[in-house]
Amino acid sequence: MGTLSLRGRAVLARARRVVIKIGSALLVEQGSGDIRRAWMDALAKDIAALRAEGREVLIVSSGAIAVGRRYLGLDPKRMRLEDKQAAAATGQIRLAHAYQEVMAEHGFTVAQVLLTLDDSENRRRYLNARSCIDTLLKLGAIPVINENDTVTTQEIRFGDNDRLAARVAQMASADTLILLSDIDGLYTADPNKDPKAAFIPEVTTITPEIAGMAGAALTPHGTGGMITKILAARICLDAGCAMVIAPGKEMHPLKRLREGGRHTWFLPEGEPMAARKTWISGALKAEGCLTVDEGAAKALSQGRSLLPAGVRAVEGDFQRGAAVRVVDLEGRPLAKGLMAYPAEDARTIMGHQSSEIEALLGYRGREVLIHRDDMVLEGGARAYAPPSDSADPSHSEASVSDTDLQATP
Ligand code: GLU
Repeated sequence: MGTLSLRGRAVLARARRVVIKIGSALLVEQGSGDIRRAWMDALAKDIAALRAEGREVLIVSSGAIAVGRRYLGLDPKRMRLEDKQAAAATGQIRLAHAYQEVMAEHGFTVAQVLLTLDDSENRRRYLNARSCIDTLLKLGAIPVINENDTVTTQEIRFGDNDRLAARVAQMASADTLILLSDIDGLYTADPNKDPKAAFIPEVTTITPEIAGMAGAALTPHGTGGMITKILAARICLDAGCAMVIAPGKEMHPLKRLREGGRHTWFLPEGEPMAARKTWISGALKAEGCLTVDEGAAKALSQGRSLLPAGVRAVEGDFQRGAAVRVVDLEGRPLAKGLMAYPAEDARTIMGHQSSEIEALLGYRGREVLIHRDDMVLEGGARAYAPPSDSADPSHSEASVSDTDLQATP
């Protein structure tokens, strides 16, 4: 049995948007609680190499509590939730500062994003967080993300950053999540206890058997252990994102991962976008309906976003982020998608050019009413599809803006 996943290597070679999750044990010296600065410098070098190849990078970093507690004289074994929150507030600022310094060496700007579980489950906040992360990446920054530990209570915590990282990967439509920790991968049993424990280089489905192995191989380090990594893998696979568990303690963990070494890949069947569209078409109930003209119907059938110009009517009373149906002038279903504006604002800007949005609403929102990544086409769209994949010459220019076309290559 080989110990390397060839498919995993191929995924890594093609990765375009990568989330790297860094566990506390890697960032912090165990005895002293100091930030492992030399290790962070080496990590920054690895990240710069990924960026030089044109890949986008997001960091999900733990360590706030581990870094902060000693400045408040807190005993790690006797911390209540409030103590952890206080430690996180103290440590996060130092951690963010360290990231800023090590990445600046390579000319990169970092941006701190603190999220709560609610931000990934409430659709409006989900869309807000997603577009912020997207904007940061487009502007070339490296988001450094952690849980906003200071405002969470036990019930609404992610609790572990493995799960947070998987939610971020899903939210950012990342193709790869790299979990760096002190664990080198998945074994059939706990390798510390069972000499017959076999290493598993590749997993494609989280079967009960796999979940069972995670239980058996639970390690005492970090807050996560193997179980949270398996839960993270499940979120990733559902979102069409590949995930790898790789050892991170040594210097240059990403370089090591790329050069081989021991690690476990979790590989999905489909592409991330396909999984997202399944979620939109299946899981969400439509809360309203937009009627669009022929030009917009054609643009949609060609996979473009919906601009306000082509919309004739907006029915329903819904918030930004709500799912709505899109129909043509005859009422044929064209698409289902997530609104970038609430119903009232959509009614104000419908029929207008995107350049007029700011003057009409008094704020500058998105150019589109429904972005193409947030939209699934339905049966009726076929009537408008061009006969070949050549562009339709009769297509109305007013329905598509250049920025929209550039937004998602
Ligand atoms: N958010 C916590 C911190 O930054 C860590 C949670 C985890 O390690 O999974 O300290």
